[in-house]
Amino acid sequence: MGFRKKIIAANWKMNKTAAEAEIYIHDLALELAHTTKVDVVVVPPFTSIKTVSDAVTQTPNIGVGAQNVHWEKSGAFTGEISVEMLRDLYVRYVVIGHSERRQLFGETNETCNKRIKAAAAGKLRPIYCVGETLDQREAGKVAEVVTSQLNEGLAGVTEDSLEELVIAYEPVWAIGTGKTASPEQAQEVHALIRKILSDLFGEAYAAKIRIQYGGSVKPANAKELMSQPDIDGALVGGASLDAKDFASIIKNAVA
Ligand code: PEP
Repeated sequence: MGFRKKIIAANWKMNKTAAEAEIYIHDLALELAHTTKVDVVVVPPFTSIKTVSDAVTQTPNIGVGAQNVHWEKSGAFTGEISVEMLRDLYVRYVVIGHSERRQLFGETNETCNKRIKAAAAGKLRPIYCVGETLDQREAGKVAEVVTSQLNEGLAGVTEDSLEELVIAYEPVWAIGTGKTASPEQAQEVHALIRKILSDLFGEAYAAKIRIQYGGSVKPANAKELMSQPDIDGALVGGASLDAKDFASIIKNAVA
């Protein structure tokens, strides 16, 4: 289905100083000079957001994302960040429920739901991550896990409240491991996700939602993955740390 513009995001995780971020954006902008066929999002750590936002003002096809957001407006929440703080830095997207947040920092579908609602209310576009572990896949629980992540994470979220919703399907066993889901394996889950979104929001809206694949995406596998009908882009970790590699993933997506 060619009608959904691809969206490819670089999740830097806990990498890069502000000085490194500035060099990266310069290099990426050179590589992508006239790329407008894909929405590109760079998701730096909080400390480099301002640098990235300033650096992308000349390249409007590169948007800025954040790696988390809290649901309260302000207060005693050490280590958290608010919607207003991110908006102040021209952040447009926010990654919510990344498996590292779920596995290492106690994120649940319920806390994801609060973050998604707060993001939506503040006109930030959530990139909501879902996906199963290897144990869950081997136990035949992919559909069950993804269904509850979507139903619970998106409970009470309405189409009208959203500027945009992006879903990232990231099988946990493929993140940072070098193992990629095959295009067929990924497509099967993407189609299931679209079906669940259709049950939640109706078919017409579900058809518009972009679903990214994430998990060891590289220049060599990007094209095959993103040519699947329900794979509308990628959330890229490791391979996004090098501006040239990230640019070639983007170029391969439209080649
Ligand atoms: C990610 O962090 O979202 C991710 C998919 O990482 P990697 O590309 O390194 O597997």
